[in-house]
Amino acid sequence: MANKKTQTETKEFQAEVKKLLDIVIHSLYTERDIFVRELISNGADALEKFRHQRLLEEEVFDSHVPLEITIAVDEENHTLTIADTGIGMTREELEANLGTIAHSGSNTFLAELAEAAKKDVSLIGQFGVGFYSAFMAGKKVRVLSRSYITDAEGYEWSSDGSGSYTLTPEKGLRRGTKIIVELKDDAHEFANEDKIKQIIKQYSNFVPFPIKVDGEAVNTVQALWTRNKNEIKEEEYAEFYKFIGNAFDDPRFRLHFTADAPLAINALLFVPKENIERLGFGRMKSGVNLYCQKVLIEQHSENILPEWLRFLKGVVDSEDLPLNISRQALQDSALVAKLKQVLTKRFLKFLGEQAREDAEKYNEFFAEFGIYLKEGVTIDYAYRDEIAKLLRFESSKSEADKLISLADYVERMAEGQKEIYYINGPSRAAAESGPYAEAFKKRDIEIIYTLEPIDDFVMNHLGEFDSKKLVSADRADLDLSEIKSAGEAEEEEAESSLEPEVIKSLTGWIKEALGGRVKEVIASKRLVDSPAIIVNPDGYMTSTMERVMQAARLEKGEPFQEPGNKNLEINIGHPLIKQLSLLRGTDDEFAKNVIEQVFDNALIQAGLMVDPRKMVERSYKILERATKG
Ligand code: ADP
Repeated sequence: MANKKTQTETKEFQAEVKKLLDIVIHSLYTERDIFVRELISNGADALEKFRHQRLLEEEVFDSHVPLEITIAVDEENHTLTIADTGIGMTREELEANLGTIAHSGSNTFLAELAEAAKKDVSLIGQFGVGFYSAFMAGKKVRVLSRSYITDAEGYEWSSDGSGSYTLTPEKGLRRGTKIIVELKDDAHEFANEDKIKQIIKQYSNFVPFPIKVDGEAVNTVQALWTRNKNEIKEEEYAEFYKFIGNAFDDPRFRLHFTADAPLAINALLFVPKENIERLGFGRMKSGVNLYCQKVLIEQHSENILPEWLRFLKGVVDSEDLPLNISRQALQDSALVAKLKQVLTKRFLKFLGEQAREDAEKYNEFFAEFGIYLKEGVTIDYAYRDEIAKLLRFESSKSEADKLISLADYVERMAEGQKEIYYINGPSRAAAESGPYAEAFKKRDIEIIYTLEPIDDFVMNHLGEFDSKKLVSADRADLDLSEIKSAGEAEEEEAESSLEPEVIKSLTGWIKEALGGRVKEVIASKRLVDSPAIIVNPDGYMTSTMERVMQAARLEKGEPFQEPGNKNLEINIGHPLIKQLSLLRGTDDEFAKNVIEQVFDNALIQAGLMVDPRKMVERSYKILERATKG
């Protein structure tokens, strides 16, 4: 061993830990019970790790000691002691685990935590404040630990949470970790046996090792997922979900299934009520644990479900996995890959069933968690088609806030319609009233409103649904002329539209006036009420995607840049355009101002950014002239 110290050594906490402790001690005092849960859960983790590790090692320290958590209270001296016979910690581990925060991006984490502490303390569990929560109730915390490694030494870690901790070698310790919390004056209740029993019942009932208080096991040790479905009560499921997910809500959906082929699987998966990422809690880690014959192989496993299903909580148990499988092997194993595939398919199938059984409930789920399915479409080719069936959107034929599926859309497509149309907008009202919806309204063709920026990427990745192309309504080559629909008026020419030569000359003039800002200028076949519209000649790029990229460039500090690759369609039946055609003969300078303004307006309606300075200056010039008596 490198560090054979016999003296007490004092160490400073990492700066982030100091901040964390400050939040824990000063902001998190309303739900103090959770510190007991956190310490028990750390003990259980340590036991799980040991149970797995001893399968991999030839020799472990204290191999005969039973796997359990023991809790003792001392009402006279106001202490609470929680001991486990788990994996224990070496000196280095004590320093690394209880002196630093391992989170990547700890500063963001701390900022979010401080925010959450102000809002809703019950969400703290999601953060895994973990061990440090002991300082919610403890004025001093001592940790006595001895690693399972045969030649390791025992140490005592001790701190009052203020800025430093001490490490002292300690002889004669058994394997595992014992945490002694010396309670604050206002926290003496935690030295009461009944109080502790009640907390265990509430939060830690499903810990898979006996939790003994005064020698007597207080929890249900049996693994819930191995029991017969018909015998499990609804409350038990809900309680288990809260336990496994560190959650306070009730689950939205539950899938408990067993399979024998191609793999033996016993899985219990939950969809939470709330999407924590949406509440601003940062990226979630996977919430599903992998077991083999009830032995925990990997907590928060990232190997058994795709990343876009990280919102699921629960357990997966497969007897087919070798018990002594290592972490590396988990990543490489063909068996695990198969398991992942089976689970993913099964879960997607389950969602399909839920959607059929109770559309309203499914749509509520989609509103909260649909974003993950969309993520799946864009990154996971293998499940693209399956996920596409589960997507939901608003459309011109759905009521506001009511969602339709792509299959619903296809079912009521108009005669002659071969494509599925969508248009993105920041809100339904914007999508509905913008120039893009006009042609569809006129012909009574349904159009899907995609209201989130990611939707255009999703549609692009999908490419088609049910062999029908997904087409953004801002495409330059949009052609609705083949579609026969009930609402279609005879394709009459706008009464007093311009002569062909005039149109040719006008579009040529506009292109010149706009210089490099525009690619093509065309007389529109689609516009009804709006004077002009921006469309995309590049079949792949939509204006929304362009907007996302514009924003990303600005964020990087790059100067504002106009796309420059857009077409402008003008409505030759619109009075403004007709007057403009005349105006350019009499006041070319002013006409140029007007068409530039029309172009900017069209860009804005396309959701794109314009140079505000130029645009405001110009619009003042136009207003000045308009107000001239
Ligand atoms: P988390 O449990 O979320 O990782 P904690 O702050 O609770 O965060 O604990 C940090 C680390 O300290 C754990 O990951 C674990 O490695 C170690 N640890 C905590 N409690 C114990 C324990 N009772 N036995 C062994 N290791 C522990």
